[in-house]
Amino acid sequence: MFTKSGKQETSINAIKDISKRIVKASKKLHEHGLVRGTIGNISARIPGTDTFLIKPSGVRMEILKPEELVLVDLQGNKIRGKLAVSVETPMHAAIYRVRKDAQAVVHTHAPTAVAFGIAKTEILPLQIEVFMLLPNGVPVVPFEAPGSKALRDAVQRKIANYDAVILENHGIVTVGSTIEAACSLNEMVEESAKIQFMVMMLAGKDAVNMAELKKKFKT
Ligand SMILES: [Zn+2]
Repeated sequence: MFTKSGKQETSINAIKDISKRIVKASKKLHEHGLVRGTIGNISARIPGTDTFLIKPSGVRMEILKPEELVLVDLQGNKIRGKLAVSVETPMHAAIYRVRKDAQAVVHTHAPTAVAFGIAKTEILPLQIEVFMLLPNGVPVVPFEAPGSKALRDAVQRKIANYDAVILENHGIVTVGSTIEAACSLNEMVEESAKIQFMVMMLAGKDAVNMAELKKKFKT
């Protein structure tokens, strides 16, 4: 009789656990206004394997079910799942290949951060707790069509050195050591964009700059 090996069982349990956490995180992203409709995607690596689970295409985050998640390999090929994979799956795969430390990738259309991308303005770590996590801020990746190889390559190059990036005229991408960390970084980027906007309105565009922040927070 066929019996599951210890490794297989660990992997099945990991998939169950990660599926539940992705669903919970997806609801939160929707509640917090970072995604609308079927846009945005979230994925998480299955530890100890070359695979990750990702939200399927055409499913709204707030009603996503654990069994709807699709298992894919690090080349973006579908391994298991009934629904079609998200169009940005190759981008997630490219991020996992370049960031071995990333356990989760979250892509949303966080509105204030998107506005910064359209204005070609990077988001700076104006608060000390943001500076601790994103000491070099959040850069803008120049526009490329969603789902394109050009976008995937541009994001892969940039995210090698940053945990969060803005996609011009599109959205943001964050990575994390857990699903929850990648989600809270996504929220932190949106919050930081709101604060930076207010500071610029109050004190002008030149009131914020990276050199001064580095000096202030490192001394
Ligand atoms: Zn998008």
